[in-house]
Amino acid sequence: VRFSTLLTLLSFFFFYYFAIFASAEERVMRLCVVIPAYNEEAVLRQTHTEMSTILESLAQKGEIAKDSFICFVDDGSKDRTWEILQSLAQEQNGLIASSGIKLSRNCGHQNALLAGLEYVADKCDYALSIDCDLQDDISVIDTFIEKAKRGVEVVLGVRKSRNKDSFFKKYSALGFYKLMAFMGVKITYNHADYRLLSSRAISALLSFKERNSFLCGIVPLLGFKSDRVEYDRLERLAGESKYPLFKMLSFAWNGITSFSVMPLRIVSMLGIAFFILSLGLGLYALYVKLFTDGVVYGWASTIILLCFFSGIQLLSLGVIGEYVGKIYAETKGRPRYFIEEIANPQKNTSNNK
Ligand code: UDP
Ligand code: MG
Repeated sequence: VRFSTLLTLLSFFFFYYFAIFASAEERVMRLCVVIPAYNEEAVLRQTHTEMSTILESLAQKGEIAKDSFICFVDDGSKDRTWEILQSLAQEQNGLIASSGIKLSRNCGHQNALLAGLEYVADKCDYALSIDCDLQDDISVIDTFIEKAKRGVEVVLGVRKSRNKDSFFKKYSALGFYKLMAFMGVKITYNHADYRLLSSRAISALLSFKERNSFLCGIVPLLGFKSDRVEYDRLERLAGESKYPLFKMLSFAWNGITSFSVMPLRIVSMLGIAFFILSLGLGLYALYVKLFTDGVVYGWASTIILLCFFSGIQLLSLGVIGEYVGKIYAETKGRPRYFIEEIANPQKNTSNNK
């Protein structure tokens, strides 16, 4: 009798063990693709079609879960972006659903991306962020997935070439990366916001509370196992770049002042250099006064020096002011965005690891 009880117990044990083990094996990652969109009516439909086709085939092959989805974030667009997103959210004709989040106003690319990531953090195992214009090659998504399956939690898309970019865009972007490196900001060369993050990496990212988010700078601070995927940069599907020169410059400046105190250091070094210079000039003036026949100094040299030094001083004050302004903005701790509406909300992942 005892032996049979033991046998029953053992078989129960094995049954449960295998049931749990098998279900763990079976679990496929639920992927969410986060796409910020600002005045993108010209490309939305095509982007949606191409993205869902790729995700559909990955889901059919069992690479990603069938409830994987696309999440668009409307960053306060002024055109028909939100209307298109609403209709995309309703018309699902394959496995892949599409949701839309509407921000209450234009909060900027980085904040729109954060809003999307925050929304999907508990609804997926991995989230892939990508621009709306599909300039980043989506045919390498399976490589991203492959790396994630091997346990990589942060996969960065890195541009191999920029042949399709305009001359200006190409070199201003390269200059940007060079400048950032010079300023000591650790960012990955030629990586923008095409990246795959595990849900754990997303929570870590969201715990950075700064208002002036510069995601390329924060991601290397996460740590975790990372890797990169190379691809060719393509042409914008349609429409204009939403990063005109001024926005790009302010983006770069924001990145520098959020991650580097180099400008302040340059100011101090300038201060020291000009202190030494003016000391020399002072000594020279003293020498002229004491040992020569009182040459009358022209006002030109005085004016030049005056302008020069007051220019340097104003510049230095400005740089320091930038940092003080940043402290001001951060201490207020204002919310980064508000969600006004959600189209086709998705359910949470039930058995999150
Ligand atoms: N974008 C945004 N809010 C903005 C500006 C841009 O959400 O205020 C989005 C835009 O819709 C696109 C992505 O950010 O999906 C990158 O913009 P774009 O492709 O115009 O930049 P570029 O590739 O020219 O640097
Ligand atoms: Mg683009």
